[in-house]
Amino acid sequence: MFITGTILGSFFNVVGLRLPKNIPFTTSRSACPHCSTPLQARDLIPLFSYLIAKGKCRHCQHSISVTYPLVELITGFLFLVAYLYLGLSWEFAGASLLISLAVIVTVSDFHYMLIPNKLLLFFAATFVIYRTISPLQPWYDSIFGALAGFVIIFLIILVSRGGMGAGDMKLLGTLGILLGFKLTLLTLFLATLIGTVVSLTLLAFKVIGRKDPFPFGPSIVLAAVISYLYGFDLLRFYYDTFFL
Ligand SMILES: [Zn+2]
Repeated sequence: MFITGTILGSFFNVVGLRLPKNIPFTTSRSACPHCSTPLQARDLIPLFSYLIAKGKCRHCQHSISVTYPLVELITGFLFLVAYLYLGLSWEFAGASLLISLAVIVTVSDFHYMLIPNKLLLFFAATFVIYRTISPLQPWYDSIFGALAGFVIIFLIILVSRGGMGAGDMKLLGTLGILLGFKLTLLTLFLATLIGTVVSLTLLAFKVIGRKDPFPFGPSIVLAAVISYLYGFDLLRFYYDTFFL
């Protein structure tokens, strides 16, 4: 499952980089961004190609961004965790969809500070199909989840003027279909927590400046994966701790 994840991760990386620029990601071959030499089969093995070539292009020796193997590694890790936690189940199928969206959003938002509408529409449709086959209890919890994600971030955008964008609003709305009402709220809460901790840490170490835009999409999708896998455990822990 880890290996499958790394292979998918390598594909998601390409989708995240190409989709916002409208480059087809199924037909055109990958090439070295520096010397444009097309990559061959042996350059396309997740993780290993990067390690064997020591992070350099075999032709021009230009160094290749460490984000490529990093995305493959993280995707492999997430698929492994989801599989160990859920086994081969319908819930695992849902987790696979969610992880796919999460990785593509993260790549795209970090590189271009945007989340492509096409991507969200595709996954919104996929989540609707998934929740039609495997509905939440009650089924309309998907609608409440989508509305909650959309409306709450819309209000935050109105009040805060910046910080969050329309992409974040559409993203949480899309995730709401899969997650339902409670887990969508939990996702927003965890995303704010993750986003705040990460951005303050990066500020403290002067990786980013006070004025630098910081993408919120990656925090949202990471929070959504945590909520999907461990959300009800977290909520139970919360109730047991504070409402005994
Ligand atoms: Zn090259």
